[in-house]
Amino acid sequence: MSEAMFGAIEAGGTKFVLAVGRSPEELEDIRRVSTSHNPLETVAEVVAYFERHPEVAALGVASFGPVDHRTGSIANTPKAGWKDFPLRDALRRALHVPIGFETDVAAAALAEARLGAARGLKDSVYMTIGTGIGGGVIVNGWPVQGLVHPEIGHLLVRRAPEELEGYAGNCPYHGGCLEGMAAGPAIQARWGRPAHELPEEHAAWRIEADYLAQMCVNLAFTVSPEMIVLGGGVMAQHHLYAMVRARAGELMNGYVALPRIEAPVLQYPGLAGALMLAQEAGR
Ligand code: ADP
Ligand code: ZN
Repeated sequence: MSEAMFGAIEAGGTKFVLAVGRSPEELEDIRRVSTSHNPLETVAEVVAYFERHPEVAALGVASFGPVDHRTGSIANTPKAGWKDFPLRDALRRALHVPIGFETDVAAAALAEARLGAARGLKDSVYMTIGTGIGGGVIVNGWPVQGLVHPEIGHLLVRRAPEELEGYAGNCPYHGGCLEGMAAGPAIQARWGRPAHELPEEHAAWRIEADYLAQMCVNLAFTVSPEMIVLGGGVMAQHHLYAMVRARAGELMNGYVALPRIEAPVLQYPGLAGALMLAQEAGR
């Protein structure tokens, strides 16, 4: 039974969400700070919040990315001012506590693996299908880092059968990568309407399910997780789960077992994961 208090930061491109807690299941004093174009302004607000919680023994940061684990910075972002900003060091200098630092999706993956849909499993993947597509990979109970970290959102996918001549994709780096074809803005750009306005029987969802199924099968072939958790705004289309499972089964074609494909269960997986990072950093 741990009595120490920890701090959690979910650092996003539009807002930072802050919390403290003795366990990831009991987040307290949840506050939002808007992400300024000047990182020093945002850091000053974050520091002021944690100065009101001097009992915090360690911090966990779940950051938008891609991140650089070695320098604790956000390595690449179109958000002016934030590219290469050393967020971890800026916080450590002001608050003098150990800091765990991961991508937002790695933290969310950790939380879903320890407390959520993939509870009790050793190897799982958490994906968010929203404004972008991102994922965290848990192997042996901890997020995979590697040379950079997994960037599953940018998997190179083949075109869905229905759109061989169609939409080119909107990823600024790769055009028709997974994110360029299947994130919320790609659905909107392809059909001229926001994804949430497309009815369940619309052809958009068969195409979407095909891309997400390719992702799941490629994850099965590379990481072989026991479960793939699919979250994010686009997955509010609950009918997609059955469609993705069915299409993934077709693509797998009986070769090896398909991981379970499930919805997340936690309300704040990124924030809960950040608190877990803090607990580990404080050990
Ligand atoms: P973010 O990725 O910015 O953290 P979300 O995970 O909420 O935020 O994703 C937002 C995206 O999800 C938007 O691009 C939007 O098109 C899509 N989205 C939100 N609600 C729905 C819905 N009910 N059905 C389909 N897509 C949705
Ligand atoms: Zn891409």
